[in-house]
Amino acid sequence: MKLATRCVRAFAEDDPYGAVAPPIYQTATFRQPSAVTFGEYDYSRTANPTRTLVEQHIAGLEHARFACAFASGMAAITAVTRLVQAGEEILAGDDLYGGTTRLLAKIAPRQGIRVRWVDATDPEAVEQEIGPDTRLLLVESPTNPLLRVADLERLAALARRRGVLLAVDNSLLSPVLQRPIALGAHLVIHSATKVLCGHGDVMAGVVVTDDEDLHRQIAFHLNAEGAGLAPFDSWLLLRGVKTLALRVERQSASARKVARFLAEQPGVRQVFDPGVGPVVSFTTGDPELSRRFVEAARWFTIAVSFGSVTSSISLPCFMSHAGVPAELRGRLAPPADLVRLSVGIEDPDDLLDDLRQAFTVAEAGSRSSPGHPAGTRSEVCAEPVFCSPD
Ligand SMILES: *Cc1c(COP(=O)(O)O)cnc(C)c1O
Repeated sequence: MKLATRCVRAFAEDDPYGAVAPPIYQTATFRQPSAVTFGEYDYSRTANPTRTLVEQHIAGLEHARFACAFASGMAAITAVTRLVQAGEEILAGDDLYGGTTRLLAKIAPRQGIRVRWVDATDPEAVEQEIGPDTRLLLVESPTNPLLRVADLERLAALARRRGVLLAVDNSLLSPVLQRPIALGAHLVIHSATKVLCGHGDVMAGVVVTDDEDLHRQIAFHLNAEGAGLAPFDSWLLLRGVKTLALRVERQSASARKVARFLAEQPGVRQVFDPGVGPVVSFTTGDPELSRRFVEAARWFTIAVSFGSVTSSISLPCFMSHAGVPAELRGRLAPPADLVRLSVGIEDPDDLLDDLRQAFTVAEAGSRSSPGHPAGTRSEVCAEPVFCSPD
């Protein structure tokens, strides 16, 4: 079965009434055969048939046997950190989602877990940083928002040789474009809120693995900590995944058009384009110009998150990465003039027209405020001024 077929068809079509869409088991509890025996399901925190369906579906797309669906991407990542004991260490990529950086910097150390950061695009540096207590290597590739690409196959070989677990956050590309388990990773994490769901209407996270023992541990934490995805959200996620291949194909093609357009703009300093996926980012050299640009866009909605059918635009330093703790900003926060675009399924001509007008408006703004020293920028952004999710 090809991937696009798998997205829509690869779940059980054995409904007793022939329903083409699966039912939602909107129930908290299940009748037991007797007081001392359990059926297949007993309580939805532990497991629910609608959740099982979406878990098995996503595991299959990642070419793995097991998955657990969580209430958010952060709940999924938290469960992965539970594989690490007090006294052990997590080695984390140095360009991660801001919420992940916050979790690792602020929460993991309270559990006696040491966290160190490494440039995951440099396998030699990773090898050097792995120590006797390193238990987990957690990376994104391409990273977000700077879209740097790590050699996952090499990292996986390295992790296996050194007895370390490799977890890859695959939220940005989805299994349509990258399947880390096949490259040797132990665990794949998704913020299913993003590309997997694709409609910006569900919060969800997934941990996928082909290792039965790791799956058992993740499922234990899902149940024990109560972070599982609710039945209705599981159903919405399943519905979103049906169009995954189609969306990714269109969004990827449009994003490349956007990247080529950006590269030709005199106001753009550098374009960051991984060559696949819905996200492209760029710098202007001037945080104020970037802000005016973001605010002038119309079809690109100012919003955090990415991967939705509707296009969005953000200043990651002040939005998705505002949660990076102050002491780590110099190293782990994106530059203040970085604009991130997530390209949706709108007609690409409309999107390019929108970007064109946004540049015109933003640049007119810089001519009318001559006090601003054009071409300067703060290397990294200071404390976020717009919001404070801490
Ligand atoms: C958004 C995001 C997360 C967190 O997921 P939520 O669903 O928002 O909790 C984790 N990793 C990446 C790469 C993300 O973009």
